[in-house]
Amino acid sequence: MLDDMFDHLEGLRDQPVWQCAPDDIRASMRAPLPIEPTDLQAVHADFKDTILPYGSGNTHPGFMGWAQGGGTAVGMLAEMLAGGLNANLGGRDHMPIAVERQIVAWVREIFGFPAAADGQFLTGASQANFVALLIARTRACGAGVRTQGVSGFGQLVAYASCDVHGCVPRAMEMAGLGRDALRLIRTDECGRMDNDALRRQIARDMAKGLRPFMIVGTAGTVNVGAVDDLAGLARIAAEFRLHFHVDGALGALGILSDDLAPLFDGIELCDSLAFDFHKWAQVPYDAGFLLVRDGAWQPETFASPAAYLARAETGLAAGDWWPCDRGPDLSRGFRALKTWFTLKTYGVRALGASMATNCQLARLTADRVSAERDLVLAAPVCLNIVCFSYAPGGVEADPGINGRIVQYLHAAGEVAPSLTTLDGVQVIRAAFVNHRTTADDVDRLVSGVLAAGAALLSRA
Ligand SMILES: *Cc1c(COP(=O)(O)O)cnc(C)c1O
Repeated sequence: MLDDMFDHLEGLRDQPVWQCAPDDIRASMRAPLPIEPTDLQAVHADFKDTILPYGSGNTHPGFMGWAQGGGTAVGMLAEMLAGGLNANLGGRDHMPIAVERQIVAWVREIFGFPAAADGQFLTGASQANFVALLIARTRACGAGVRTQGVSGFGQLVAYASCDVHGCVPRAMEMAGLGRDALRLIRTDECGRMDNDALRRQIARDMAKGLRPFMIVGTAGTVNVGAVDDLAGLARIAAEFRLHFHVDGALGALGILSDDLAPLFDGIELCDSLAFDFHKWAQVPYDAGFLLVRDGAWQPETFASPAAYLARAETGLAAGDWWPCDRGPDLSRGFRALKTWFTLKTYGVRALGASMATNCQLARLTADRVSAERDLVLAAPVCLNIVCFSYAPGGVEADPGINGRIVQYLHAAGEVAPSLTTLDGVQVIRAAFVNHRTTADDVDRLVSGVLAAGAALLSRA
């Protein structure tokens, strides 16, 4: 199995980014419940036939869709070790817990957080943003909100830019606050939250007797990679005594690159920070993380007494750091191990350099797009994301063409960008996250879009 996976990873370039699984392959996943055992070799052969060739593409250098990490062989091997250990990271006294605490200490150092800061792995930034919101709610209302619910505490309202990731309004829904209580503040021409508009909206809401409790800044918006003015947001949060959370899912770890770090000035001032090791740090899925400024806030929101989780002085039930007191999960996997292996084996300098290279590729793409008379750049490039349109002779005549081009490219299997909508117009979006992607892939993207656009137009 290991040999096969090494071959697979070494041969990525010879395979399509993605290919559509044919019907007979899909049918293999509608099999009856296996009552009797099957030989492991036969199960593995099934895997090679029906799963391996039809993956989600994000390991491939030509993958540029959404914002997904490429993984590494080191991370894969660490996953195997973690699987063998099968440790449960809910709590208790064992070294896997110490590994997660080690990562917390490293994360604290990376982001310049104080010694009292704490954190934990979660599935991803969606979950980390939700957990941060619950912590902000408890900070605003006090622990009584846990027993009484939010209704007795006035109308809580939160703030984010209109380009905030969809998981933040959904976190408001899941918390019972409702998405209407998330004020979406307009952005400037670079996609950053307009801080003056934010300040005015908070003042208006307070005058109406509402209860502002949280500002969510974004460090790398999902559409264009914009980084809000985090230091400015920190000042506003301090002025109005609000919890300042940063969604740094795709961008925050860019701080590991000296070139990119200035973009994130002020991130060290936030009260909580969500980010993903599984995106830019190339740790295999899933490895989301939440860092909070004061470690006491987590148990205030989540710790619950339970007889079967009683602590002991010594023995396996000892230990003073049980993640189950600090978040929503009891049983938890050993996400820390693949992260520990990745950070140690490559070192954070190389990870940061790979992020800086991704940003150079994004700028190269923007330059190439600007030089082509049939392509139009749709947004300034601030990080690792480029949005552009196919517009023959500079004219965006056909609103559906970008969507058809992207589908055409996915079927062709050389490069896989995705789509987004900017100012009501659907555009092609290339996000450079994978450490395997090179300038040749940028060539393939630009020439692929031009060829696809021309082919689709001549067909119409
Ligand atoms: C990817 C992303 C998320 C969601 O993170 P998951 O790890 O997929 O849950 C949230 N915010 C931003 C800005 C993202 O890029």
